Amino acid sequence: MGQLLSGKEVAEALTAVMKKDVEALKAKGITPTLGIIRVGEKGPDISYEKGATKRCEEVGAAVKNYVLPEDTTQEKLLEAIRQANDDSGVHGILLFRPLPKHIDDNAARAALLPRKDMDGITDGSMAGLYSGSGQGYAPCTAESVIKILEHYQIDPAGKRVVVVGRSTVIGKPVALLLLEKNGTVTICHSKTKDMPSIIKEADIVVVAMGRAESVGKESFREGQIVVDVGVNPKPDGSKGTCGDVKFAEVEPIVAAISPVPGGVGSVTNCMLINHLIRAAQRVS
Ligand code: NAP
Repeated sequence: MGQLLSGKEVAEALTAVMKKDVEALKAKGITPTLGIIRVGEKGPDISYEKGATKRCEEVGAAVKNYVLPEDTTQEKLLEAIRQANDDSGVHGILLFRPLPKHIDDNAARAALLPRKDMDGITDGSMAGLYSGSGQGYAPCTAESVIKILEHYQIDPAGKRVVVVGRSTVIGKPVALLLLEKNGTVTICHSKTKDMPSIIKEADIVVVAMGRAESVGKESFREGQIVVDVGVNPKPDGSKGTCGDVKFAEVEPIVAAISPVPGGVGSVTNCMLINHLIRAAQRVS
């Protein structure tokens, strides 16, 4: 039976540290404040906003909401981003995407200051990740994978790591972060041939495909560490979510695996607040 890499456990440990960090900042008169910019009333945005707000309250951080109607103009959105950029009381900004189709995503991303870009969406943050300059922040989900490995003292250094997926939010940044940690990284994607044999060679496997329960026991062997980033509706249409990995058949084979739900997704909003605290510490 594989060890369970519990995101909930990681989130609890991170929250305890973050509470102390916020206390220290408050003692200096700084309350870390997250600006949340939302366009429209999309369910997933609202539920993520609720979770982030709850996590902020839990650690003693504050939230400032900027809510614009679905039919807002691009200029009004850019104005809200500039306002949040210029507000020294707002230390970090979360901008929900995808934006409505009539708004230019590139223009919105370009308006956001990398030093306030809490989810690594700006080109500045991506450049910082690429160069290691420290500019901006990594996407929260990608960094959550690293935090899970760190918590369970799994060091990628010298290990063969396979990342399945090459999106700019997960696959590519997680591969760069693992490379930074001295893993020997291979990236697989939809055009990769014979993926099971490539995955089997890895010591650590990070799967971020967005294909419900599509990677099964044929891809795994004993001793591997598996982090499943996928969050998908269940293929049989029943309630709840599942990962990209067939958990029930893979978990008995591998050394450790993160569940879905209760894995990476449980750490993501912690990383958001972790970035916020880092941003507030930079100005303290
Ligand atoms: P995405 O943008 O759709 O990217 C999926 C990647 O998987 C692409 O690079 C794609 O390859 C690759 N892929 C698709 N089918 C494949 C196949 N059959 N074999 C090999 N590679 C394949 O998705 P994403 O935004 O990265 O999200 C991935 C998953 O993470 C989703 O389930 C999403 O819901 C989940 N997610 C979780 C969290 C969290 O907090 N846990 C946060 C965000 C997203 P190509 O590039 O060749 O098309």
